[in-house]
Formats: sequence, structure tokens, C-alpha cells
Amino acid sequence: MSSLVKLELSWSVSVKVVGSFMQRRMLRDFYPYEFVEDVFSIDYQRLYENGVRGIIFDVDNTLVPHGLNSTKAVDELFRKIHGLGFKTLLMSNNCEARILRFKANIDTLYIHRAGKPNPDSYWNALSMMGLKKEETVVVGDQIFTDILGANRAGIPNILVRYIGYRINEETGWNRKGEKLLLFFYSLRKKYQHRLGLG
Ligand SMILES: [Mg+2]
Repeated sequence: MSSLVKLELSWSVSVKVVGSFMQRRMLRDFYPYEFVEDVFSIDYQRLYENGVRGIIFDVDNTLVPHGLNSTKAVDELFRKIHGLGFKTLLMSNNCEARILRFKANIDTLYIHRAGKPNPDSYWNALSMMGLKKEETVVVGDQIFTDILGANRAGIPNILVRYIGYRINEETGWNRKGEKLLLFFYSLRKKYQHRLGLG
């Protein structure tokens, strides 16, 4: 084998190795710690036992369909969560009027126009709750905002299926991208059930 061929071979192997390493590193930011059906199927008691004391919730398509008011079931869920001893904070990219309308019957902190996935709002949320990132969990329906931002901020997180996925309400590029990422995620066992909920 000529030295030129050897050089080309080793170059192409190194590019592949570095490429796949970088891909894995980059994809890691999109992987949730847990992936569950909805906010009602999360074992909050278990989270509390594991030392979690604060939960940051996305609102639209996580707790209710986009733009809608809270429901009795969601109000009840917040009472239950607060009863267990958790602090809560709603974090939304939506405007303040929308969040205030949603939280009419829920006593919780909130951040509107959060600019997710910018991690600044997540760190702001931690200081509002007076908690460390290890004591907090982010719950949201979007990989490219809720989960990416939480991972960038170093806060454990739970992805819920977006409300309306069964009737395939949203078919935009971000949902298609999420589908692809969830496929890669399904192959990467070490990133799944990192909160011990599975
Ligand atoms: Mg959402």
C-alpha cells in the first residue's frame, strides 16, 4: 500500500471518528432525562424522594392545548404537587397576559417571554425558587426549546408528548425534527430514565 493511500485512509477514519463523536456530543443536548406520556403520568412522589424540590413547567401543549385556560384536572394536579412540598414555576415564551389567564386558579411563580432555549431564564427560575439545578426538574413538550434550554442550563428534564399528537395537529418542521431525534434517543439507552422514573 502506498503511503499516499495510507494517509488518505487514516485521514478518512479520523474524520469519521471525530464526526461521530461530535454528532453524539451535539445530539446529547437534545435528549431528555425522561420521556413520558403526559404531566399526569409523572411520579412526583418519586421525584420528591429523589431530592427534587422544584418543577419548572412549560404551559402550551404541555399542560393544556395551545392558548387555552387551565382545566380542573390541571388545577388539581398543581394542588397535589404543592401538597407534596414542591415549588413550581411556569416558564413560557408566550406573553404575560396569556400566563396570567392560565394561572387564574394556580398559585405559582412564572416567567413569561422566557426566550427558551436561552438558558438565562432557567437560571433566573432557579434563583426565583431559591433552588439548585440538581433540585429542579423542567417539564415540557418541545425538544428544541424546553429540553434544549434545560440541558444547556444543566437542569434535569422530562419531555411529555405534546397535547394533540394523537390527531397529529402539528406537522411543522420542528415536530418532524423531534421525531428524528426521538428515534436516535430510542437507541441510546444510557440517556433514558436518568431520573429513575422508568
Ligand atoms: Mg410547549
